[in-house]
Amino acid sequence: MAKSAIPQLYLQVAVPSPLRQCFDYLPPANVPLPVPGTRVRVPFRNQTLTGLVISTSCDTSFAPEKIKTVLEVLDDEPLLDQSMLDLHRWASTYYLFPLGMTLQTSLPQAVREGKSLHAPTKLTWQLSPSGLAIDPEKMGKSEAQKQIVDYLRTYTNLNTSELSTLLGKTATPALKALLTKQLVMQVPATGSITPKPEAKQTALHLNDQQAFALQEMRQALNSYQCFLLEGITGSGKTEVYLQLISEVIASGKQVMVLVPEISLTPQTVERFRKRFSAPIVSFHSGLSNKQRLDGWLAARNGTASIIIGTRSAVFTPLPRLGLIIIDEEHDSSYKQQEGFRYSARDVAIYRASAGKFPIVLGSATPSLESLQNALSGRYKLLKLTERAGDANLPVMQILDMRLQDNNEGLSHALLQQIRQQLANNRQVLVFLNRRGFAPLLLCRDCGWIAECPRCERSYTLHQQPSCLRCHHCDSQKPLPRACPGCGSTNLAGVGLGTERTETLLQTEFPDYPIIRIDRDTTRLKGSLDQFVETINSGIPCILVGTQMLAKGHHFPRVSLVAVLDADSGLFSADFRGQENLGQLLTQVAGRAGRSEEPGKVLIQSYHPQHPVLQQLITSGYGVFARTLLEQRRAGRLPPFVYFLLIGAEATMREAPLHFLQEALKLAQDLSTHDLQYFGPMTSPLGKKAGKFRAQLILQANKRTTFQRMGQQLLAALDNLPRSKSVRWYVDVDPLDFS
Ligand code: ADP
Ligand code: ZN
Ligand code: ZN
Repeated sequence: MAKSAIPQLYLQVAVPSPLRQCFDYLPPANVPLPVPGTRVRVPFRNQTLTGLVISTSCDTSFAPEKIKTVLEVLDDEPLLDQSMLDLHRWASTYYLFPLGMTLQTSLPQAVREGKSLHAPTKLTWQLSPSGLAIDPEKMGKSEAQKQIVDYLRTYTNLNTSELSTLLGKTATPALKALLTKQLVMQVPATGSITPKPEAKQTALHLNDQQAFALQEMRQALNSYQCFLLEGITGSGKTEVYLQLISEVIASGKQVMVLVPEISLTPQTVERFRKRFSAPIVSFHSGLSNKQRLDGWLAARNGTASIIIGTRSAVFTPLPRLGLIIIDEEHDSSYKQQEGFRYSARDVAIYRASAGKFPIVLGSATPSLESLQNALSGRYKLLKLTERAGDANLPVMQILDMRLQDNNEGLSHALLQQIRQQLANNRQVLVFLNRRGFAPLLLCRDCGWIAECPRCERSYTLHQQPSCLRCHHCDSQKPLPRACPGCGSTNLAGVGLGTERTETLLQTEFPDYPIIRIDRDTTRLKGSLDQFVETINSGIPCILVGTQMLAKGHHFPRVSLVAVLDADSGLFSADFRGQENLGQLLTQVAGRAGRSEEPGKVLIQSYHPQHPVLQQLITSGYGVFARTLLEQRRAGRLPPFVYFLLIGAEATMREAPLHFLQEALKLAQDLSTHDLQYFGPMTSPLGKKAGKFRAQLILQANKRTTFQRMGQQLLAALDNLPRSKSVRWYVDVDPLDFS
């Protein structure tokens, strides 16, 4: 009798390859079938790659004789569970980016490289809840045990050998005794040794608006709901998050907190550590690969209760996730601008809805996307309209530059005000969103301007150190001695950057420290923290800086904020220009008077009557944003329609445009209705780093239009002969139109 054939099983494996598909492999013999979410080593072309099993199936569309066998199964249990696989699959479909590459972007390097996760992780000691509660006086005689409890109260992430060093003798016996008494426990290291405050801070007494917001959120804890917490700067949003988080972790769930790149400072994490004794993992750029992996594992195995991170942390596996907080949800750093162009905010919202738990978007200046969702009822809008505690909102005022004498961009009226504040022992913040000394180097005799040949844009003049730098491609070159056009040495920097402002202020106020904060002065790790420390010491001083200064920080002694140039944002070609200007001005203004000190904001402008400035100042961001929304609705712009941008670049000038013309034809063939378009056109930055650039913007009324046609469009684009001669990419919900 013929034996019925056992059906052959195939594994669909996502490999890190730009090809937009999974590949089928045969499971290896003599080992258990790897389930979805497991890493495997597979032969791929001439290489061996680490891939992830996505699914298994009895069918294959590949020719059976071409199907290779998995070389090795790397995990005993799946690395990612079904919900994480679904999240990646959704993101890959939504952002039209290959699944294998999506996984590649979001997993820690050690995981991607196929390293064993069983490698001994550094275990560190921490007090158990009863250890935290115990009175050292009542601990018995052992000095070593008392000292250890004391150290663990003060520091996180101490391991046995570090404790031994502190004690001056081996800590092992004392630790064993403490373990038996259940006063200590072992957890994976989540970073370097950090002091922690002695006692946990208690929750503040909420004002009525905070209490109402908390109550609304608390009622939604076991289902999906997206909240928009629209709270002016300093209104106590963070305090609301902290109290909500405390309930969620008390119920045994995990919490994810996402913050903008610039706000993830030790101070931010400190604020959480001060409040919670639950293990906190933070993912920031300063981590080594090993630390990142340890944090990732602590999140994935459930040891960490709270994770705080920037954009990419949204993909961290958290088996008991029960709440996501997105602070400063309008911040553009949530959108990745290269490769896998996802929005962490939008991925997080999907994650919450799939996982059936709430998500809170918080901002003083919500994005128009989120605001529209809140106004239409998709999100629940909660407002905090007053500053918490005793702080007052700053007064905003425009300085009409047409009427002012000025010293290279600093009006006399402004200097006068700065002088007064310093004399009163206050601090002043001067904001200018342009780093370097001057945005142009000009020959005063023939009009020649120093230009980056790779980008065809003017170089920025820097003086510390002295050179010309291109802010588009980061190239630099030495300052010319003479004009290459006419030989004249009459060269001058034109316009104002933060370096020049710093110099001018030093001359005007030689007796006060001037602290410049921009990408150039904070390049060294920890330097920003040092500046912040100096500022928090409270001495009268002037801070000069770019938008780095506008975000997140508390500067309680700042009583005057000066905005040197608001006009560039007023006339931006980007349809989000005014929204961004409104956010930036409101955020920077929010740095003033954050405690008892009353604050003042002075905005220098040559267009003081401009309706955008006027409305922002007289009515505030909330009204301003709602007006902009109506303009967007009338103009058929996002968030009322959806954009998909196809960008292309090449060394041949015409190639990107030709490619995009063909792309447009393909798109039109795929969607007969619900498709409009702009372009193809040369990008605003038409050349960058030697490549010519162009873009095509597709517009649809429904979000699903792009998802429906996307995969087919990509496949068709891949097949265009021209697609090999250009570098191209697709950006869904683009923010960057440069
Ligand atoms: P936001 O996150 O909205 O900028 P924060 O939560 O950081 O605001 O609060 C701003 C300041 O007000 C902080 O110093 C905070 O400790 C304080 N604060 C917040 N809520 C209260 C409250 N209910 N009572 C007193 N002070 C508060
Ligand atoms: Zn010249
Ligand atoms: Zn350049």
